[in-house]
Amino acid sequence: MVVAGGGAAGFFAAIACAEARPGVTVAILERGAQFLGKVRISGGGRCNVTHACFDPRQFTARFPRGERALLSSCQIFQASDTVAWFESRGVKLKTESDGRMFPASDSSETIIDCLMRAARAAGVKLISNCGVDRAVRAAGGGFQLTLSNGETMACDRLLLATGGCRAASGGDLAVSLGHTLVEPVPSLFTFHIETPWVRALAGVSVESVLASVPETKLRERGSLLLTHWGLSGPVILRLSAWGARILHDMNYQFPLRLNWLPGLDAEQIAAELKTRRDTWPARLIVNTPIAPLPSRLWEQLAAAAGIPRQTRLADLSRPAQHALIRQLSRTELAVTGKSMNKDEFVTCGGVKLGEVDFKTMQSRVCPGLHFAGELLDIDGITGGFNFQAAWTTGFIAGRAMAA
Ligand SMILES: Cc1cc2nc3c(=O)[nH]c(=O)nc-3n(C[C@H](O)[C@H](O)[C@H](O)COP(=O)(O)OP(=O)(O)OC[C@H]3O[C@@H](n4cnc5c(N)ncnc54)[C@H](O)[C@@H]3O)c2cc1C
Repeated sequence: MVVAGGGAAGFFAAIACAEARPGVTVAILERGAQFLGKVRISGGGRCNVTHACFDPRQFTARFPRGERALLSSCQIFQASDTVAWFESRGVKLKTESDGRMFPASDSSETIIDCLMRAARAAGVKLISNCGVDRAVRAAGGGFQLTLSNGETMACDRLLLATGGCRAASGGDLAVSLGHTLVEPVPSLFTFHIETPWVRALAGVSVESVLASVPETKLRERGSLLLTHWGLSGPVILRLSAWGARILHDMNYQFPLRLNWLPGLDAEQIAAELKTRRDTWPARLIVNTPIAPLPSRLWEQLAAAAGIPRQTRLADLSRPAQHALIRQLSRTELAVTGKSMNKDEFVTCGGVKLGEVDFKTMQSRVCPGLHFAGELLDIDGITGGFNFQAAWTTGFIAGRAMAA
């Protein structure tokens, strides 16, 4: 058995295969010098292993692509199985308030050590600096591989776990064996905004904002972070995931609408302003933010509404109040580009799901060929969902290869 790709999915598959069928030769061929490179840098070096959501239906609803296919796999191996898998090998996971699960050590090295140890204990051969460049079906079954070091190798079953297919490699192998690729584009990115007042607020965060893209169905609510290049935070990452393809087609240039007070409608904001005017007529508007908006953001929104700094609440004219309410409930900003999120980014697109049997991760086109991980057209929002897709598909592929 050969596993092409020494990432999360490849390791889980190789270990599952070797543990299920002791004595069988299982080799991981990794193109790079290091195994598990993305696990190392993941989650800011902490590795967000999975998400504490143990209902497969609710879990897979967090996947803009691949929800249905992954549901059948998660019924076999889901987040609670991942927790048990690591715990049974001595790695305790902890859950943060937002549901993200990390090793209790807060270090991705703990996960790497565990996977390396489990692979070695199961007898998996670990070969680095050895990419699979070509794979052809052999006449009598199995595959003949051409490796990046010039050697060749034969195997009965081949697993492609080569990661997101924006860098050709694994995608090309899949196509050469008869598969179709759904065009890869990035997911989980942040937005560039050039509006000076936004950049001036770098570091400010807002707990709950409703963000939407006019003339699309894209709409997300959650916390927002203003940065020196524009906007980030969970609400933006989720919008980028659900809108990965639409926003790509817009060349990442589109209007973004923000409702800074999604809990209040225009009338309720007007009532809030009236109460303030009645209570503190002499106070300056810039000094009386509506909770929970940070005061620096409030000041900028008032300025963006054209309200001079020295305006007292008593002097707020009707048109100025109207402009302020509009800023608070529908600020429109021009997005001019994207940046990859340093904590997590993934590929939307990859091997077409209809061509794979998700109960075995075996190709429906090429017998003996399996797939796992990000190479597939599956991607989730941020929060540990993408690694879980790798663990789930890897485990199932490995078990099926051993059968
Ligand atoms: C910065 C960053 C942080 C992230 N953090 C998180 C997180 O905290 N939680 C989360 O859920 N997700 C996270 N992700 C996403 C997650 O890392 C991926 O979804 C996951 O690694 C996919 O696993 P994989 O095994 O399919 O692919 P990969 O981890 O990409 O592994 C594929 C491997 O295959 C090798 N390879 C490629 N082509 C060949 C070939 N032809 N022959 C042999 N080897 C080959 C590559 O070198 C690579 O080592 C993060 C992603 C990034 C970029």
